[in-house]
Amino acid sequence: MAEVLTGIGVCAGTVAGPLLWIAGAPALPAPTTVTDTEAEVARAEAALASVVAELERRADRATDGTIAEVLRAEAMMADDDMLREGVREQIEAGQDASHAIDGAFASFREAFTAAGGYLAERVADLDDLRDRAVAVLLGLPMPGVPSPGHPYVLAARDLAPADTADLDPDQVVALVTEVGGPTSHTAILARALGLPAVVACPGVLAVPDGTLVLVDGATGRVEAGVDEVTVKAATEAARQASEAASGLTGPGETADGYGVKLLANVGSAKNVPAADEAHAEGVGLFRTELLFLDRAQEPTHDEQVAAYREVFTAMTGRRVVIRTLDAGADKPLPFLNQDGEPNPALGVRGLRVARQRPQVLTTQLAAIAEARAQTGADVWVMAPMVSTLPEAKEFAEAVYAAGLPKAGVMIEVPAAALRAADLLGVVDFLSIGTNDLSQYTFAADRMCGDLADLLDVWQPALLQLIGICGEAGRAAGKPVGVCGEAAADPLLAPILVGLGVTSLSMSPRAIPQVRAALAARTEADCRRLAEQAVAAPDAAGARALVS
Ligand code: PEP
Ligand code: MG
Repeated sequence: MAEVLTGIGVCAGTVAGPLLWIAGAPALPAPTTVTDTEAEVARAEAALASVVAELERRADRATDGTIAEVLRAEAMMADDDMLREGVREQIEAGQDASHAIDGAFASFREAFTAAGGYLAERVADLDDLRDRAVAVLLGLPMPGVPSPGHPYVLAARDLAPADTADLDPDQVVALVTEVGGPTSHTAILARALGLPAVVACPGVLAVPDGTLVLVDGATGRVEAGVDEVTVKAATEAARQASEAASGLTGPGETADGYGVKLLANVGSAKNVPAADEAHAEGVGLFRTELLFLDRAQEPTHDEQVAAYREVFTAMTGRRVVIRTLDAGADKPLPFLNQDGEPNPALGVRGLRVARQRPQVLTTQLAAIAEARAQTGADVWVMAPMVSTLPEAKEFAEAVYAAGLPKAGVMIEVPAAALRAADLLGVVDFLSIGTNDLSQYTFAADRMCGDLADLLDVWQPALLQLIGICGEAGRAAGKPVGVCGEAAADPLLAPILVGLGVTSLSMSPRAIPQVRAALAARTEADCRRLAEQAVAAPDAAGARALVS
């Protein structure tokens, strides 16, 4: 009989397949005595060569240029004369091939660590290469994401960006992790790829490799030990659902024609093709700080104009909601020198940076205004991390003074949600950032997997705060959007609409399913579900209303 595990669903969709574990680092066996030194050197060199060849193959296959570069750089590190020399010396000193490789990498590791800076940051790559070469020698599965050549559910304790750099969506049909949370790397990756995913799923670590599982990324339910018939039925249903969702392309609306704008979250013009493919009606969140993450200096006016213009031009004729720099906490920007805050999430972040560095905001608004003037785009500007009416008023005045017509604020702090009606007296729109609003409502760090249940977007208290904003929007006749990860949950979308939300902005891949979910409900259904969800005793109770 199948065993049911429950985690947090972070990307909707129901799929089934064999669960395969991301393989960990191979353990070294007991040392063996070497009788033929040259043969042992040849074995070690062949293992290194096979690692290089595999990385190069992956680099050739990678569709993303940055990923290909990363893989080639790693391949070059393994194809190194000094490394081969180090391995030979270890073997000549009596080590077997796997211990020699381990020893040679250990000396490189020490040297890189001592050198600091860029080289020290490459230590993880060295460890990965060592693990790969040892796995080849011992005939163990290659560490990292498996590539069995057939569809499977990828399982891991948690996933790091390096694990998933070139994850193949044709093979990986879902993600399940023991830890992680709604805003963890796994969740973000799953939404970017449109992969059903369940995080914070206790007990999954005990499910053996190869077990057939059924994963429901909406409810967070994972059934382990299902039969082939279930797998076939789920696969067929998933195919039909995806076909039905991609067949719908018009503007977002409920079954009775109540319009809800479906917008895309973007970090740069690179994300626009995906938004187009999903028939996004515009951009609901342009995260400008992503353009400047690695910069030591504040970007100049002209650099900013060029970056904004690229997105505005690519989205011609559609709304672009651009957010002013959201620096600090989970997005530190070196040029703002924010080191040393004891609690950065509660520190000088988002709009608060303008208290200390008003010029950064003025420069950015001027650049946005110029890019808008050059492109004639429909640009709306909003500020992150606004808490009070005076902050909203001052920001709106700065936006209008820069010649920009639409000013809004993000609702990420409970204080701002509670006073949404006041805020709408001074701005043109609100956009609810549920990632931070959850964090601050539940006093739970958004990066903390152990608190994932508190960060669940189905928490009735969070929905209640969203409802306060939605009501304020209805009363003022002004738009209220959601641009946090909650907007990408197709089961939650009708509830958000029932709470008064007028637009949903999300990772482009999530748009088709959200469009289909809205088309299946009337506006009256949405309002009824919203009322019930807010009244539910907990997140599970709210979810149960629709699943
Ligand atoms: C949010 O907080 O929900 C949001 C959209 O902003 P970010 O995730 O960039 O902090
Ligand atoms: Mg935020």
